[in-house]
Amino acid sequence: MDPANDDLRDEVTCPVCLEIPRSGGLLPCPNSHLICVDCFDRLRRRKVCPECRAAYVVPQGMTKPRPSPLADKLLDQMTFQCRLVIFAY
Ligand SMILES: [Zn+2]
Ligand SMILES: [Zn+2]
Repeated sequence: MDPANDDLRDEVTCPVCLEIPRSGGLLPCPNSHLICVDCFDRLRRRKVCPECRAAYVVPQGMTKPRPSPLADKLLDQMTFQCRLVIFAY
């Protein structure tokens, strides 16, 4: 396994379910950590970032994590790689 690839994987792995989400975004925590849409929903009551443990406030009406073009791009790349692996075997 390419170590650079592992780093990329870490970047986009959801810290709660440890999956590479198909759809994710950024928490309103001070460090803007990535979270998947499902876990954002699950964390609504706790409001503590699972990654940096900082408490955060979900702005009113916010039902999904903040979209991140960079995260989207990374996720796109990761899922593309997954597809390639599936086809290769
Ligand atoms: Zn998750
Ligand atoms: Zn955080």
